[in-house]
This record gives sequence, structure tokens and C-alpha cells, in this order.
Amino acid sequence: MANYKGHLAGGLIFTGMYAVSVSFLPVERFAEHAGVLRDWQAVFGLFIIGMLFSILPDVDTNSKAQDIFFGIVFPLNIILLWQGMLQASAYLGLIAMLPIIGHHRGWTHKKWAVFVVPLPILIVPYVYSEKILSLAMIYYGVAVTGYFSHLLLDGLIWRRFRIKN
Ligand SMILES: [Zn+2]
Repeated sequence: MANYKGHLAGGLIFTGMYAVSVSFLPVERFAEHAGVLRDWQAVFGLFIIGMLFSILPDVDTNSKAQDIFFGIVFPLNIILLWQGMLQASAYLGLIAMLPIIGHHRGWTHKKWAVFVVPLPILIVPYVYSEKILSLAMIYYGVAVTGYFSHLLLDGLIWRRFRIKN
């Protein structure tokens, strides 16, 4: 399914299932953010991330995902330059090149990418707080879920699920 609307619909369904599953998490172990689903802003963030990651793999081709990705990265890089954060700007520029290296349905559509691409959601808060935050884990989980839904609908996980190409 190459259409981004189909992927967004898939991302919405999978994020919904994820949100319901997360609400059953053992409260003691996730005490820090057990109430995450009672906070509408946190739930809204959950759906934004899940649906964003459900179209992200197509950042490797001329797509809505690419428009959104560079629509965020480009102004962000200008802000970094403007703030004199040259090193951060250089790293962001380098990362922004990655999706267009290779061909469509290249590395962004590999199964390992499902777990690796959302990793900054875990790593960045870890660098700043030096501990794995349960909220970061919940957001990492929804990013993995959204990304997975994309590969599933592309027919790359289980051929039977390929809707159209
Ligand atoms: Zn795709």
C-alpha cells in the first residue's frame, strides 16, 4: 500500500490497539507514568508519534512522509545554525541525508529499522537524565508499533497482508 492515507489509517488502528494495551500495564512497574492515558495531551502525543512513524519508512521516496520530514528538519537546522549550535546542525544534516541514501524500500523498509529508527526517543532522554524513563519507553513502543504497521501494510512482514502495491 503506497498511499500515505492507508498507512495513516493503519497507524491509527495500531496506535489505538497499543494505547489500549498500555492502559493494562502493571501500575507498580510503571508508577512514574501510570496515569499517562488519563492525560489527554499524553494520549494526543502518543497518536501523533504512532501515526508519524506509520508513514516514516516512505521518507526514502518522494512522498508525504518526505515532505513532513524535511518540513521539520529544514527549519530545525536553520534554528540550530541561528543559535550557533554548529555541531548539532552538522549532525542533523548528516542524519537527514540517511533516508535518501539507497533506493525506495531499501534500509528504511528492513525489519531491523522497526526497532532502530525510533531509538532516539529512548536515547535522547537517557543522555539528558541518565536513566531510562518509562514515559520514553511508552513513546518508543508506540513508534515501533507505528513503524511496524507500515511494513505490515507494505506486505513486508507477512505477504498475506499486502493490500496493494
Ligand atoms: Zn513503504
